[in-house]
Amino acid sequence: MTRPFDLSFEFFPPKSLDGSFRLWNAVETLQVFSPDFMSITYGAGGSTRDLTCSAAGVIAKNYGVPVAGHLTCVDATKEETLSVALAYAAKGVRRIVALRGDGTGPNGAFVPAKDGFAGSLDLIRALKDVGDFDVTVSAYPNRHPDAASDSADVDHLKAKFDAGADRAITQFFFETEEFLRFRDKCVAAGITKPIVPGVMPIENWGKARKFAKACAIPIPAWLEEGFRHAKAADTERLFSTALCAETCDDLLAEGATGLHFYTLNDPTLSADVCRALGRTPRHLELRATA
Ligand code: FAD
Repeated sequence: MTRPFDLSFEFFPPKSLDGSFRLWNAVETLQVFSPDFMSITYGAGGSTRDLTCSAAGVIAKNYGVPVAGHLTCVDATKEETLSVALAYAAKGVRRIVALRGDGTGPNGAFVPAKDGFAGSLDLIRALKDVGDFDVTVSAYPNRHPDAASDSADVDHLKAKFDAGADRAITQFFFETEEFLRFRDKCVAAGITKPIVPGVMPIENWGKARKFAKACAIPIPAWLEEGFRHAKAADTERLFSTALCAETCDDLLAEGATGLHFYTLNDPTLSADVCRALGRTPRHLELRATA
């Protein structure tokens, strides 16, 4: 049965002409699913600040879809960080995915910049103060490498909601149970705002595997085995689509109110999964009512 759910797609800003074509093709392809918002990431250490801001502004202006600009506190003063938020607002972008960001200190440790925000809690409060932004934050079903314990991640997420966050999007994960266990702990800790599962359709297993290792996300043996068989049978794409659609269906059946797709600027699998979940593209809806 088709269930209604909130839908969002994440993209990264282009760094080349070829990358621009890929981004706009992905946005064009996925906007017909009437997402609740699209988001644009902020390169590590603020490296894509202007590109992120421009891409967010163009989507907001041209597609009539709400846009969330990501923002981190890394290597920037409070003033510099908030100036990006105000630049978003000037382009009609009122949603921000507010993050501490990955550290650039020794061993990747996060060290606040001189006159910078101490972390995500400070940033969330400042964004609510400066422009009453709609604030989305991150959440980690599999413990964040900086977390002292599993419960420290839940406590920190609760603190982010207490600081004013409106919703959280999780890091991607491979086992539905990992999300559900985390969500249940958050609810038990008194969190009532939405925690949206971040879903990564696997376009390329080699890359996804590498990315998961870098983010300390456990890789189940059954998944390795599944992709090994799919590769041998030349059915990797079919396996990926079926796997992602089944995961999303399970998440929705277990009460998830939304899905956030990490598209990596490739729209094909996300679109196929949306269709499999019964999300009708807008032009088909219009044809049906004509
Ligand atoms: P936080 O959630 O603030 O902290 C991470 C963990 O550290 C916490 O769970 C907690 O256990 C511990 N911790 C931190 N501060 C405290 C504290 N004061 N007290 C107690 N515990 C604390 N990175 C980018 O560079 N650009 C992006 O656009 C981007 N987008 C992302 C979007 C999503 C949905 C997610 C899940 C991640 C994204 N990231 C992005 C990655 C993110 O920057 C890294 O994971 C970074 O290491 C942590 O940033 P954060 O805001 O999630 O940190």
